[in-house]
Amino acid sequence: GMPGLPAPVLAERRKTRQIKVGNVGVGSEYPISVQSMTTTVTADVNATLQQIAELTASGCDIVRVACPSQDDADALPAIAKKSQIPVIADIHFQPKYVFAAIEAGCAGVRVNPGNIKKFDDKIKEIAQAAKDHGTPIRIGVNAGSLDPRVLARHGKATPEALVESALLEAELFAEHDFHDIKISVKHHDPVVMVRAYELLAERCDYPLHLGVTEAGPAFQGTIKSATAFGALLSRGIGDTIRVSLSAPPVEEVKVGIQILESLNLRPRRLEIVSCPSCGRAQVDVYKLADEVTAGLSGMEVPLRVAVMGCVVNGPGEAREADLGVASGNGKGQIFVKGEVIKTVPEHKIVETLIEEAMRIAEDMESG
Ligand code: SF4
Repeated sequence: GMPGLPAPVLAERRKTRQIKVGNVGVGSEYPISVQSMTTTVTADVNATLQQIAELTASGCDIVRVACPSQDDADALPAIAKKSQIPVIADIHFQPKYVFAAIEAGCAGVRVNPGNIKKFDDKIKEIAQAAKDHGTPIRIGVNAGSLDPRVLARHGKATPEALVESALLEAELFAEHDFHDIKISVKHHDPVVMVRAYELLAERCDYPLHLGVTEAGPAFQGTIKSATAFGALLSRGIGDTIRVSLSAPPVEEVKVGIQILESLNLRPRRLEIVSCPSCGRAQVDVYKLADEVTAGLSGMEVPLRVAVMGCVVNGPGEAREADLGVASGNGKGQIFVKGEVIKTVPEHKIVETLIEEAMRIAEDMESG
């Protein structure tokens, strides 16, 4: 993009209340944060902290840990203390773990109103404890565990049912003057999910946590999440996101960050602009793009690198990129800011691009 100018976005953020999850602000005044959830047994403190460290390194802003047992609840103080990013405890059936998580110093607690009929009587105490500790609550409605009373009224997990369940719960907290809330209404079907969040966005000003639940294995889950989040984020709806994949959580974070970067909702880092290849290509573009991606992964500076299979579109695309290569005749023309700076034999393309990328990164960092 043009230096100095903010990248254009598709819509202004929907105005929301602001909450703080540890040191991460959530709401329309803050950048959209990326969340994931550990897959370790929470009671295994070392394994859980190890996975949180990996998530932190991959750019995760907030992490959630499940808390299905007393052993898990007992592990929360150590995890909350040692994690570098805010930890949210995910509580389903047991109100006592909500109190444990708040007292453990967790940065937030997620409750599922469908699984907490017992919770209704406890809301006053939960609100008080959360207020005392400054702990926000996520009301996390899930199509698969909708409040039976709401389900009975609607027949199934319609968008209206999801929203009704969430707002009923928020209302119970509001009666006790507790508003440090964010809400999610997840569904596995992106169409139902998008409609639910649209309704929710109209009916409240709480910050919203986006998720397509049970989205599936990496490929399908990535597409479902990108499609659904794209529909909402492009209209300014969504303050924090979690991509759910049947894949390691670090993959969820990578996808989440990429979705935000694609919509200019987070500054772009490395971006490879590679051509799809065609009958004109004189080099294995897929292999070259993979090698360049691998060689440049971990670069912290935003860099757009064009990898083109021939010289037809090479110069044009490369002009829009910081750096690029157009291949042909066993050689690669290396471009920097649209100018050919050298021509190298094909086997030197990757190392030359890496060298040039390092040089550009140094220039960017020094001013
Ligand atoms: Fe085909 Fe060349 Fe375009 Fe790549 S850059 S798609 S090889 S015309």
